[in-house]
Amino acid sequence: MEEKKQSKSLSISLLKWKLNKEELKNQIDNYNTLGFTKSAKKVATALLILSIVITLVLGLFGIVSLGETWLDIILLAVLAFFVYKGKKVAIILAMIYWTFAKGYQLVSNPQQVLWVIIWWAAYMGVFFQAYQVEKARHKMSQEKTEEPVVRYCQKCGAQNQEGSKFCTKCGNKISIS
Ligand SMILES: [Zn+2]
Repeated sequence: MEEKKQSKSLSISLLKWKLNKEELKNQIDNYNTLGFTKSAKKVATALLILSIVITLVLGLFGIVSLGETWLDIILLAVLAFFVYKGKKVAIILAMIYWTFAKGYQLVSNPQQVLWVIIWWAAYMGVFFQAYQVEKARHKMSQEKTEEPVVRYCQKCGAQNQEGSKFCTKCGNKISIS
């Protein structure tokens, strides 16, 4: 029994796409308090920043031309900012960007196929995990706001919207209590 408990891992891992219920709950319950290695959106942000750093280092050593990659750097920085803010759209755009970027790399360097696929899958897994968390959070907040607040008439029992002073069915005055 104790062994089962120990194998429970609630951290975000690379090359794993789907969050199980427990992990998702942990991500939502501790959304603001999870650290940079455990929060899905923070790991996703860190990966985007890592890509900026790698591009800058490659540029510094003359391996890539910074003149040609500055647009990628700006795009990555903008995506990193909004992924950190927990914007679902930014996570989707990051997945699209990443797929195009790795696809381009594969076409221009077909011999790196394995490396490109691993790099692609590692990032995509984390992006997808972050997306699942935001999707679940979004759903939760919608359920909260969609729940109608009703007041029941004490005289006839009809449902009335919050704020109504008189019952729409019998005209009885609705008390707040
Ligand atoms: Zn009534």
